[in-house]
Order: sequence, then structure tokens, then C-alpha cells
Amino acid sequence: VGNDPASETYVGHKVRACKVAGFESTLLRYDANITEADLLKRIGVLAQSESVDGILVQLPLPAHINENRVLEAIPFEKDVDGFHPTNAGLVMQGRPHLVAATPAGIMELLRHYNVETAGKHAVVVGRSNIVGTPVSVLLSRNAAPGNCTVTLCHSRTPHLSNFTRQADILVVAAGKPHLVGASDVKPGAVVIDVGIHRMEDASRKQGFRLVGDVKFDEVAPLASAITPVPGGVGPMTIAALLQNTYKAYQTRQSLHNDSK
Ligand code: NDP
Repeated sequence: VGNDPASETYVGHKVRACKVAGFESTLLRYDANITEADLLKRIGVLAQSESVDGILVQLPLPAHINENRVLEAIPFEKDVDGFHPTNAGLVMQGRPHLVAATPAGIMELLRHYNVETAGKHAVVVGRSNIVGTPVSVLLSRNAAPGNCTVTLCHSRTPHLSNFTRQADILVVAAGKPHLVGASDVKPGAVVIDVGIHRMEDASRKQGFRLVGDVKFDEVAPLASAITPVPGGVGPMTIAALLQNTYKAYQTRQSLHNDSK
């Protein structure tokens, strides 16, 4: 909805990733002044459609549209972003179905690189519903990867550095460019940088470069592992989205077969 430049980029990546994976995807664009009622009606059609396995509404939405109402209009079985309260609640209860894509991608990174998480101190900076809170729940659950002792920090945390410096695993999702530098990180820590920001850079063709919430150049030498921006959590988020879509498809297929 509308034409937010960052959203255009993300949507472009998602459409391309579907194509590479062999998924059929349809990009529906609506004008920024579409009414909430109209948008809900259109989502309702997709919700009912037998041929649609997954629905994703690219955020942010224009201010006159209630984001929660829109996200709740997507049936939780088709909610491949994992933002529906039912999917969020299932994560809370330790029986995840469609997990929010960025946290799911982060957990997959930890699994793939065999990062030891049990008994470690994980510090998460940021408590949003889509990143910080679910990743903190996943890191603390009794599963692998998981079993961390988790500290969840936010904008009201005093002396943030006192917490981040204790982290064996540091997840930064504050949405503040270059918030975390070398003096905020314990040597040997695993650092996951979720932030994505456009920083003006006249030397680049597009006039900007992408940076994260972490000062990569100064933190990388002392971290045991670190995700770059771009190329770290972003692609993992898209991979998790595709995984969720495939899971949604499989679940719908098995329900369909059961009802035969
Ligand atoms: P939100 O703005 O919703 O949440 C940011 C959180 O960080 C809030 O909880 C806020 O605290 C906290 N925070 C802000 N400033 C500070 C600070 N100085 N110290 C400590 N905590 C702070 O952001 P999102 O969670 O949606 O996204 C975070 C970042 O990740 C953004 O840069 C976003 O673009 C990026 N992102 C990247 C994705 C990817 O695929 N790579 C996917 C999703 C997001 P409080 O609650 O008190 O306000």
C-alpha cells in the first residue's frame, strides 16, 4: 500500500525469492489513500481463496489504516509473516506454528552455524512484536537452539552498555544506526545485527548505502561471529518467509486430505 521506498525494495526481494523457489506469487499494489474497509475487503477475498496459501501485507501501512485490524484479517493459517496474535501466542506457549520471519531466520542462523546457546546469556536490544520480543522468547525456550538466559533491553534501559557487554549472544534490533560499537561488546560474543538503515553516500550509484544497528567494522574483529548488513538477517528473513509459506501450504494440504 503506497510507495514507501524501503518497502519497494523488500517486496522486490520477496517476489524474486518466490520465483527462485518456484512459488507462484502475486504482487497487489494499492494506492496510499485506499480506505481501511476496502483493504480489509480485498484481504477477505484472498483469505477465502482456495488457491492462496500465504498472505503478506508489507508494513508500514499509511497512518489512517489500523495495522492490527489488517494483520488480524489474515487467517492465521495463511499468515506467513507470523504476525497474527494466534501465531504470536503459539510462540509464547512453546508450540510454534508460523513464527515471525525475522526471529525464525535468526534462530535458523544459530542452528546452521552450530552456535552453542544452552546456558549462554543472550541480550536482545529492542522489544517490538515482530523482532525483539519473539526472538527473546525463542532464545529462552527449552529447545535447541534456545535455553539461554535472556535479558531484554529497550529505550528505557539505563546504561545499555552494561547489559550488552555481558552478552554471549547479542541481538540488536533497536532501529538506531550504529548504536552498538566495540566498547559495547564482550570479546568472543556472537552478534546478530537486525537493523537496516539507508545512510547517504554520494560515492554510491543509488546515493546511499545500507548500515545496521552495529558498527560492523569495529565490532567484527572482536566478535566470534557477526552478521553483516546487508546480507545477514535480511536474506534469512526472506528464507524464513518462504519456509513459512511452504509450511502453510503443507498444513492446508493435509487438512484438505483429512476432510476427503
Ligand atoms: P521498532 O522501532 O518497532 O522497535 C525498536 C525497539 O528498539 C523498541 O523496543 C525500542 O524501545 C528499542 N530501542 C530504540 N532505541 C533504543 C536505544 N537507544 N536503546 C535501547 N533500545 C532502543 O523496530 P523493529 O523491531 O520493527 O525493527 C528494528 C530494526 O530492524 C529496524 O532498523 C528495522 O528496519 C530492522 N528490521 C530488519 C528486518 C530484516 O529483515 N533484516 C526485519 C524487521 C526489522 P521502546 O519499546 O522503549 O520504544
